[in-house]
Amino acid sequence: MANHATSPGTARPEAIATVSPFPAIAPGHHLAPVAIGAPGSEQKIVFVPCPDWCATNHVSNWVHFLEDVDHTGDEFAVHVPSFFNEGKPVYSLTAAVGSDSMSTDPRMRAAHVIVGDEGSVDAYLTPDMARTTANDLRKLADKLDEAARTARLHNQHVEAVA
Ligand SMILES: [Zn+2]
Repeated sequence: MANHATSPGTARPEAIATVSPFPAIAPGHHLAPVAIGAPGSEQKIVFVPCPDWCATNHVSNWVHFLEDVDHTGDEFAVHVPSFFNEGKPVYSLTAAVGSDSMSTDPRMRAAHVIVGDEGSVDAYLTPDMARTTANDLRKLADKLDEAARTARLHNQHVEAVA
């Protein structure tokens, strides 16, 4: 390995004193530009640690205050249609990972899972709660498949005897 003369151990003390320490960034984070204030001359851009899974553009999604910055991952959505409501789903369920690093609530500061249905209230789940809910939704998906098979067989039987 090359012996670097500029390693901290050999740098002159007066040179070290002029180096301003770079803020430590937790693993899995990067510094992202964040717009504070409405677009215009008063808007400021600051850099904050942002989790690598965060899909939010913090410049276009500007906030009034730094405390309002929260991080959200890519959203996945399941839409449930109805043949009585063509073109518009009756239910929409979304899931994404989130973190509100400035929150006073440690559960919101930690990464958590947000499940929404386009209503005004979202569900906030710990990773354990999300795993349990995911298992239940898998059972619901199996039940949906089973119900679809039963309905298809019923319809084929009705057609056959008609
Ligand atoms: Zn972010």
